[in-house]
Amino acid sequence: MENLKSKVIIITGASSGIGEATAKLLAQQGAKVVLAARREDRLQTIVNDIKQDGGEAVYIPTNVASSEDMQKLAQFALQQYGRIDVLVNNAGIMPVSHLNELKIQEWDQMIDVNIKGVLYGIAAVLPTMREQKSGHILNVSSVVGYQVSPTAAVYSATKFAVRAISEGLRQEESPSSNIRSTIISPGLTDTELTDTISSPEIKAMASQMKSMAISPFSIARAIAYAINEPEDTGVNEIIIRPTIQP
Ligand code: NDP
Repeated sequence: MENLKSKVIIITGASSGIGEATAKLLAQQGAKVVLAARREDRLQTIVNDIKQDGGEAVYIPTNVASSEDMQKLAQFALQQYGRIDVLVNNAGIMPVSHLNELKIQEWDQMIDVNIKGVLYGIAAVLPTMREQKSGHILNVSSVVGYQVSPTAAVYSATKFAVRAISEGLRQEESPSSNIRSTIISPGLTDTELTDTISSPEIKAMASQMKSMAISPFSIARAIAYAINEPEDTGVNEIIIRPTIQP
């Protein structure tokens, strides 16, 4: 994995699930990883684990729904390591519900974290990557970024948006600035994502489906693959789901 050796990689939502697995895997492969999320205790423990395994990692508490926090995150990565090669926009929440429940606050939260968080991440790193004339932004969408189902209208909408933003970024920045853009779309993955569901019935249904879920390391390997491809090769989109998921 020679390609990863010198890379500085920011990962949002790195305090659990896919982000944690990605940080650990990329650090194992020799990257310098910058972990961001809100739960500082979790980030501290993961950074300690990575260092104990001989990896290089730092963290900064970050709310991706704050443009200011995302700017601070990028500045922190630059101060620590002098460049930003990759941003993995992974943080996300999934408080799904039926539209007629009118959980407007949860709709707002999903839009703030899942869409604005991705945009603020792009805004925070794009000037540096343009200056470097190289960079790679991976945005985590979902299989529901292709198909809507009941209770998931708003969550799906945010993941459709992530795909649109990623493709727009690719069209604008890849040919002119050599910045790669990748959409990562997981299916059911065994993480804490269903914890944010406030309706007990929907949460119970989602938990039942967990028996089908794959390891977050399956998604982390897909992320590592896209990053590890040579600079002249843009991996634009990967869908990874459990073999048995319909
Ligand atoms: P987890 O709940 O385990 O991880 C979500 C991460 O996002 C946590 O680290 C959490 O950290 C972080 N996060 C949430 N809100 C914020 C915020 N405002 N600011 C900063 N970080 C935040 O779930 P997953 O690992 O599954 O989720 C990762 C991504 O994968 C999400 O975008 C999700 O939509 C997507 N995905 C997941 C699937 C699955 O089946 N698990 C399927 C398809 C897509 P903290 O609370 O510490 O801030």
